Amino acid sequence: MEKTLIIAKPDAVQRGLIGEIVKRLENKGLKLIGIKMASLDEAMLRNHYAEHVDKDFYTGLENFMKSSPVVLMAWEGYECVDAVRTLVGATNPRQAVPGSIRGDLAAGTGRNLIHASDSKKSGEAEVASFFKDDELFEYDKSEYIHVYEENERG
Ligand code: UDP
Ligand code: MG
Repeated sequence: MEKTLIIAKPDAVQRGLIGEIVKRLENKGLKLIGIKMASLDEAMLRNHYAEHVDKDFYTGLENFMKSSPVVLMAWEGYECVDAVRTLVGATNPRQAVPGSIRGDLAAGTGRNLIHASDSKKSGEAEVASFFKDDELFEYDKSEYIHVYEENERG
């Protein structure tokens, strides 16, 4: 089953939006397979945002991501990477559609509440990079039969 990493960023922690974010992902029917709080350091952030380290916004992004703890979550579901990106909304929250998390709850690109993996490959890699094996949980979710058709449940 496909996996995706969500980081509820420092603005989500500071604004008390962790529950709201979890609720929206739960309401979609996704399965939570790992969750923990962490302080991200420079090395972790440079690795996670490797594609952005040379960009002009990177220093601000790194400082912001270190400004308070974050909440890391691993979620699982059929084609969940794209489903979650849609739920999260556009990078610039002012352009994110109403109904999406960023569209409803955020206003600044550098304060857009959430990171979500952007491909099946990055979902696998990012979950593996932030969670040890014993921090990830395999279990049957009883409501799955009412969320997915049989061929989608894997
Ligand atoms: N970011 C920023 N300024 C920009 C572009 C991006 O501060 O002009 C930050 C923003 O927090 C964004 C993150 O860098 O979420 C990663 O950028 P990306 O383009 O990968 O957006 P995402 O995948 O998070 O939607
Ligand atoms: Mg990205």
